[in-house]
Amino acid sequence: MTPLAEILSRRIALSGPITVADYMAECLLHPEHGYYSTRDPFGTGGDFTTAPEISQMFGEMLGLCLAQAWLDQGAPVPFVLAEPGPGRGTLMADMLRATRGVPGFHAAMQLHLVEASPTLRARQRRTLEGYEVQWHDTLTDLPSLPLFLVANEFLDALPIRQFERRGSGWAERMVGTDAGQLVFGLAPLAPVASLAHRLADTREGDIVETCAPAQAVVETVAAHVAAHGGAAIFIDYGGWHSLGDTLQALRDHAPDHPLAHPGQADLTAHVDFEPLAAAAKDCAVSALTPQGVLLERLGITARAQALASRLSGEALQSHVAAHRRLTHPEEMGNLFKALALAAKGSPLPPGFAHEP
Ligand code: SAH
Repeated sequence: MTPLAEILSRRIALSGPITVADYMAECLLHPEHGYYSTRDPFGTGGDFTTAPEISQMFGEMLGLCLAQAWLDQGAPVPFVLAEPGPGRGTLMADMLRATRGVPGFHAAMQLHLVEASPTLRARQRRTLEGYEVQWHDTLTDLPSLPLFLVANEFLDALPIRQFERRGSGWAERMVGTDAGQLVFGLAPLAPVASLAHRLADTREGDIVETCAPAQAVVETVAAHVAAHGGAAIFIDYGGWHSLGDTLQALRDHAPDHPLAHPGQADLTAHVDFEPLAAAAKDCAVSALTPQGVLLERLGITARAQALASRLSGEALQSHVAAHRRLTHPEEMGNLFKALALAAKGSPLPPGFAHEP
């Protein structure tokens, strides 16, 4: 049993089963035993790899994309460049390097990161040495300035709740204990107002998921952009809306049972973009765009060729593999989706189109 499993078992024995959301939040961010609180999980030595860790091209494309959005909105001075959940800070570092040549961009920018993990804050500080950075606990703390924001694999780490369809009601999936082990169970049937529309596309026994914190994030960003201008890009794995259990645990680059190693495995869930698009209704919202399509539109192939011309041997092979991994429909290209928003009346960031 992990130390966190013991803590959670004692809590459940005292006060009853907890929601999947409570479980996920404790696993990821418990101050002493949480997965992100205690480690840097990225890269080949860690538990999983993300797009910015695969290739510098990912951050370069997104940096230039946001810089163009800034130019399209009249290059406001000053403005906030923000990222929630920056991991190692790699995406931001690549964005900053790529935008150095955009006249006025760096001089006008204030860098703001939202990060819950002290360990990863320290890592980000090292990665972004030489830049003046401000860290925050929540997005509501950002200064009232035009906001250009990117979030990659941030929303999938926010706690989800799961509900199983029973007749015309829903039973919430809970984490309890049985014979000293953490187990999934179901709470008594209850109506769930926010799932009324899902009665039409689900059947008895189906599981659907909700993520109120992700909706709150997008709502906060959309309200900020509507009030002060700017644009935001959210990239994550998922689809329009979920059907089925998408909670997954990764440990040492291999799937793990979500209840097996609380605090020692990464826990994520597919991101549902339909409720997020609805939460951004104060802004113009793009069509949901596959990551591969977005990166191609932003010119990743030309950039990949330019970089390739300076490489040979193994370095060239791994560069070609990284390009494929980010864009190919059978790799990350289709599984990962991007959604952009901008103030109504402003153009969407390049690479994005309005809903047809
Ligand atoms: N964007 C990075 C890292 C993704 S992992 C990349 O693409 O590599 C998720 C990141 O979100 C981590 O930095 C984690 O510590 C942070 N995080 C998770 N939950 C958070 C929360 N509730 N508030 C702020 N940061 C959070």
